[in-house]
Amino acid sequence: MEKKNIDWANLSFGYMPTDYRYVSKFKDGKWDDGELITDPNVVMSECAGVLQYSQSCFEGLKAYTTEKGQIVIFRPDLNASRMADSAARLEMPVFPEEKFIDAVVRTVRANAAWVPPFGTGATFYIRPYMFGWSPVIGVKPADEYQFRVFGTPVGPYFKDGVKPIVVRISDYDRAAPHGTGHVKAGLNYAMSLHAIVEAHDQGFAENIYLDPATRTKIEETGGANILFVKGNKLVTPKSPSILPSITRRSLLYVAEHYLGMEVEEREVLFSEVGDFEEIGLCGTAAVIAPIGKINDHGREICVPSGMEEMGPKLKKLRDTLTDIQACNIEAPEGWIRVIE
Ligand SMILES: *Cc1c(COP(=O)(O)O)cnc(C)c1O
Repeated sequence: MEKKNIDWANLSFGYMPTDYRYVSKFKDGKWDDGELITDPNVVMSECAGVLQYSQSCFEGLKAYTTEKGQIVIFRPDLNASRMADSAARLEMPVFPEEKFIDAVVRTVRANAAWVPPFGTGATFYIRPYMFGWSPVIGVKPADEYQFRVFGTPVGPYFKDGVKPIVVRISDYDRAAPHGTGHVKAGLNYAMSLHAIVEAHDQGFAENIYLDPATRTKIEETGGANILFVKGNKLVTPKSPSILPSITRRSLLYVAEHYLGMEVEEREVLFSEVGDFEEIGLCGTAAVIAPIGKINDHGREICVPSGMEEMGPKLKKLRDTLTDIQACNIEAPEGWIRVIE
């Protein structure tokens, strides 16, 4: 298979339509067989459930080319089950988990020419998503849905090496105490856009959200979970309104089983943040992005690992997980699915 003629190393994190996408439709109470199609456009009613009442959820994962030239994906079973949870919370029909994985595999295989070659730093970002498709005007769930998967090549998250970021404590809330913070709903992102634009205007890379009920505990950012390091311990906040990041769950396992660290999932008070030596954000896009400073309404909390580079513990964690994803070191059973 001949690769597309793309300047892989200089790609940004942007959308580029590729050759094939997968679509399956839910109608009369059941999902059809699903197929690969070439048209990148979705045609729907002006009154579609997603357009009127934002009934949609999504996932994000990546395909990587290994040194041996194989294309692999990382823990797609966890994306499948998380999407099932999102769908259930939004009164959408669950797309069967085995079919989800099959749809992702078929989409990547059909677009293999778009999967960046080994060594470019680029990856193939995969976006499964689902939305209410049939017309809805009185408030209720749609009757018909589409589940789709497309992929697009994306550049390395850190083009010029990993640099610590400065974040602010947000006055906005990301999730309500018994709301939808724990599922990957498009609506969580819609309401975070104002906060992120404002943060960027003020020179901050991200917003850290505190728990909405008491504003005393750390939750996460708009699209990444948070990690704290102190000595040999890795700590991550526990809260029912945090999105269960697959990267975070994988990093906790790697810390404990590959690096011999102690791991702790617990409530993290904002007042104890100054006690930690390294702090980072984690998610599929960046794996880990180090935080250098947290700005709390003008008061700066400087993380001891500084503004020059990532701290040693988070760096080791990031390197180990990316080595597992690239198949340079052995992955735990079931983490890697070879596509071709
Ligand atoms: C997707 C997402 C993450 C990261 O999850 P990964 O599975 O690691 O990519 C973290 N927080 C929020 C709010 C998200 O939507």
